[in-house]
Amino acid sequence: MAYLLFTVLAAKNYYLGHKALAFSLLLFVVLASIDTYALFKKKALPININIVVSALVLSLFLSLYYLGVGIIYWIYPISIALIYLLSLRAALIFNLALFVIACGFCILNMDAFSAFRVSLSLLITILMSSLIEVHINMLHQSLSDESVRDPMTGALNRRQLSTHLDASLANKKRNHVNSAILMFDIDHFKQINDNFGHDVGDKVIKELVAIIDVHSREVDMLFRVGGEEFILLMNDIKISDAHNFAEKLRRFIEASRIVENHPITVSIGICESFHSFSSETWMKNADTTLYEAKTSGRNQVRIHDSFG
Ligand code: GH3
Ligand code: MG
Ligand code: MG
Repeated sequence: MAYLLFTVLAAKNYYLGHKALAFSLLLFVVLASIDTYALFKKKALPININIVVSALVLSLFLSLYYLGVGIIYWIYPISIALIYLLSLRAALIFNLALFVIACGFCILNMDAFSAFRVSLSLLITILMSSLIEVHINMLHQSLSDESVRDPMTGALNRRQLSTHLDASLANKKRNHVNSAILMFDIDHFKQINDNFGHDVGDKVIKELVAIIDVHSREVDMLFRVGGEEFILLMNDIKISDAHNFAEKLRRFIEASRIVENHPITVSIGICESFHSFSSETWMKNADTTLYEAKTSGRNQVRIHDSFG
């Protein structure tokens, strides 16, 4: 309906002799229709949205030029629409251009007080709608974080794990890039809860995550897969390096004084990626290896033996 209205406006302006305005309105309708059709078909936008918006801003500018000061009130909904449609940065650039055009036009065509009122109200509209957009973006970010992260530790949650394991296995098959998973479980954790209380138990879990975070690489991904069980996915790493890292971490955790006079230790099962693995078998092998570390006395690192 809106595009039909714009087309009628284009025809009317062509008839009135405002040819530049008619062509720019028509250009906007054509570009926006192509993108809307792609959106409707759930395909990527063939025309960059900034180009479509440029045609709209050009039409507005030409409307002011041909039709006069009454058009100024269309700047308000357009500036809000830009913030909704574009990235915040692009919207601010376009809105700054609109603001400069509007101010210049008002100063030339209105008395000083009216020009001041229009400029100030437009500035407030742009600032307020930008603030609302920033707030919405932050809410959106925290909602998407909540859906992928464990709220207590900030580690990725179990739902994310198989997707990332599948990606690593695909990378192994296609590009021969080796990955390893390190499965951690805190030793005798029930005793910590029993002797020091659940809050201290929680603190131990959070401190453990902090230690792993500090020592792991930026690209490593930590998942909380159980109460005090974690998986660290290390992509693009040799098994010997993963082993050295796990051993370093184990010693570091043992030496850390999270609970006064009570060393905290972890057992770690390591398993590298193999062509034949599914994400389930990969995890199962890491779990079996962790179990071996537990039954061999805990506070140790074990590597999955692919020939065993
Ligand atoms: P093991 O050395 O064999 O691992 O012995 P364990 O006592 O650590 O045994 P297990 O790993 O089965 O213990 C898990 C315990 O972790 C049981 C549960 O009460 C506790 N737990 C699970 N989630 C949380 C949590 O979020 N906070 C706290 N404080 N405790 C938790
Ligand atoms: Mg445990
Ligand atoms: Mg456990």
